[in-house]
Amino acid sequence: MATPVGAPRQLLRRLREVMAARESVQARLDKVVVLIASNMVAEVCSLYLRRRDGSLELFATEGLNPIAVHNTHLKPGEGLVGLIAEQAEPMQFPDAQLHPAFSYRPETGEEIYHAFVGVPILRGGHTIGVLTVQNRTKRQYSDEEVEALQTTAMVLAETIASGGLVTDGLTAEERPEGAARFSGTSISEGVALGHVVLHEPRIVVTRLIAEDVEVERRRLSQAIEDLTGAIDNMLERGDLARAGEHREVLETFRMFAHDHGWRRRLDEALLTGLTAEAAVQRVRNDTRARMLRMPDTHARDRLHDIDDLSNRLLRLLAGGIGTAAMGSLPQDSIVIARTMGAAELLDYDRQRLRGLVLEEGGTASHVAIVARALGIAALTGVKGALEAVEPGDAAIVDAEGGELHVRPTQEVVSAYADKVRFRARRQAQYAALRTVPPVTLDGERVALHINAGLLFDLPHLDQSGADGIGLFRTELQFMIAATFPRLEQQTRLYKAILDAADQRPVVFRSLDVGGDKVLPYFRGAIEDNPALGWRAIRMALDRPAVFRTQVRALLRAAAGRELRLMLPMIADVAEFEAARALIDRELTILKRHGRPEPKAIKVGVMIEVPAILWQLDRVLPLADFASVGSNDLMQFLFAADRGNSRVAERFDSLNPAGLKALKLIVEAAKRHGVPLNLCGEMAGKPLEAMTLVGLGFRSISMAPASVGPIKAMVLSLDASELAKRLDELLESKTTSLREDLRRFAVEHGVQV
Ligand code: PEP
Ligand code: MG
Repeated sequence: MATPVGAPRQLLRRLREVMAARESVQARLDKVVVLIASNMVAEVCSLYLRRRDGSLELFATEGLNPIAVHNTHLKPGEGLVGLIAEQAEPMQFPDAQLHPAFSYRPETGEEIYHAFVGVPILRGGHTIGVLTVQNRTKRQYSDEEVEALQTTAMVLAETIASGGLVTDGLTAEERPEGAARFSGTSISEGVALGHVVLHEPRIVVTRLIAEDVEVERRRLSQAIEDLTGAIDNMLERGDLARAGEHREVLETFRMFAHDHGWRRRLDEALLTGLTAEAAVQRVRNDTRARMLRMPDTHARDRLHDIDDLSNRLLRLLAGGIGTAAMGSLPQDSIVIARTMGAAELLDYDRQRLRGLVLEEGGTASHVAIVARALGIAALTGVKGALEAVEPGDAAIVDAEGGELHVRPTQEVVSAYADKVRFRARRQAQYAALRTVPPVTLDGERVALHINAGLLFDLPHLDQSGADGIGLFRTELQFMIAATFPRLEQQTRLYKAILDAADQRPVVFRSLDVGGDKVLPYFRGAIEDNPALGWRAIRMALDRPAVFRTQVRALLRAAAGRELRLMLPMIADVAEFEAARALIDRELTILKRHGRPEPKAIKVGVMIEVPAILWQLDRVLPLADFASVGSNDLMQFLFAADRGNSRVAERFDSLNPAGLKALKLIVEAAKRHGVPLNLCGEMAGKPLEAMTLVGLGFRSISMAPASVGPIKAMVLSLDASELAKRLDELLESKTTSLREDLRRFAVEHGVQV
């Protein structure tokens, strides 16, 4: 390990003074090289900076011929300087002239120098320049000297990039520029124009040089301890979904955070006189540069992990800065994140949030559901977005075309402004349908309900002209709370919902937590497969206190009115019976206390675990209604995690296998005369909803923004015609019916 050296720290302090001086860029750079040369007892110190064309230009030198300044250019990879830039690695040669890559430039007069050491000037993993030192004698530079030179290069890089030393034509300014376009998958329809906000703010390191190395060391080791503690904690609690984290990512963080090599490099950087923040930045730069040179794409994928981890550490060093939701948001925010949990999205001020862009996450994940509930345009799977943006950049989220535009040109902005106007016109057309009953061309009434979960969803009921609330996800209230909502709080929310719904039906679903819906204050056991784990009704029956409190709140809120309560994740008839018995017990208690009862209590079964498909003839007679949770049903039928973008889109919900399962449910419900609804995301997509009506569904429930388009579809559909076509297709095809159904829609003028 390097021993503390006084010289670099002195050098850094002097550097800071030189660079802060009110002088021309050239004058300051000239002083910088003199300073470094004298500090390293070298005859030569030269600074090369990369120009936009990729060449390296000699910008300042002490010791080489001054004529060469701005006249010596090296092409990428040319000479030792080009080699260092390309390899992004320090190199030293006791006799440089013997090296095959040595490129002699007569104008420099460097033939008298033998020893050579050079380090890359790195910014964001890219080489923006090279700093070299030369001596006449053939000598080996010590590790400490190379390290000190690297630290100097880092300080130079930060100063250059922060605008302190930028001159025209340099690539030193790392700020991405120019219009860029990315594609992704829409998770919530809409088009949003606004400005980039990074969900996890990047910290700009401004204090580079340490006043007291010991203090910086303590700060860094405390921050690392906090970071590893937080990661270990998250992994132990399995609290992955709140932050939208994947176990794999956290495991990688843990590996890095405990990595001795990483810690040693941080320590070494600190010893050269950097602040804790600057040391983190320097090690990140070096690691990034190393990884960028690796041909293996897996290593490149891990760049993200290093960035994330370093960012977290920097935020901890800055005093534990939270996500952007905690700060003040610009009016028209487009939030960009690698991943995000549903609860985190709910932390944002929705008045200012226009769009959401995620690099990872599935379309049926809960963050997607919340984005739809908030009515913001959202995309997922937008690879490379984070790296290409800076906070404040103009951006357009086109969740119809599946595109993100960053720093769009004026033409693109005007095209989108037109698109937004067009959408507004279409919304106005949908609004005109608000009071028109959704009846198909052949006279079938299709009830259209909305999915909701929070108080702010309520105005949507009137605005959309929906028939009622087909799914009220009670867990959202639990997910955004800091502790379990008490009986009174729950009662208040349920009552407000029923009041707002007036006479329209509201289907409350009992608490569906577990899986990817994690309560920050509730420690579950570690589960390898949380989606298949202890969740929803399983929790309710094993620990009935929470369920019973909720039922009590619902019974109180529904006094004198009808209460509809549906039970999620029923896999076995006995579970339904046990839950119903608990509801009856609560009703008995309510009566015993002389409290007003609901006018009627209807208990429904959710059909979302495949096992229940073969128990329909037993469970339906016990239920007052049934509702298909197609998100989970499809996830389990195809064994494809709805939150994992790698597999979530692999199987189409318009696959005959899934559709046959839905048909089976429709037929069973008809047989038993049980009202049936479907409340998964399928219901809000016109082509899928058309198919559902063709299969016989007469009640579906969706995000409020979908009601207009779905109503337009219903009004233009001949349901019996489609039913006939579907019968044929289901028997003749084995892969997705999407194209066939689209053709049907086009041929029959169905608005999808
Ligand atoms: C479903 O699974 O389709 C459903 C409606 O419930 P959730 O998405 O909340 O799991
Ligand atoms: Mg579900």
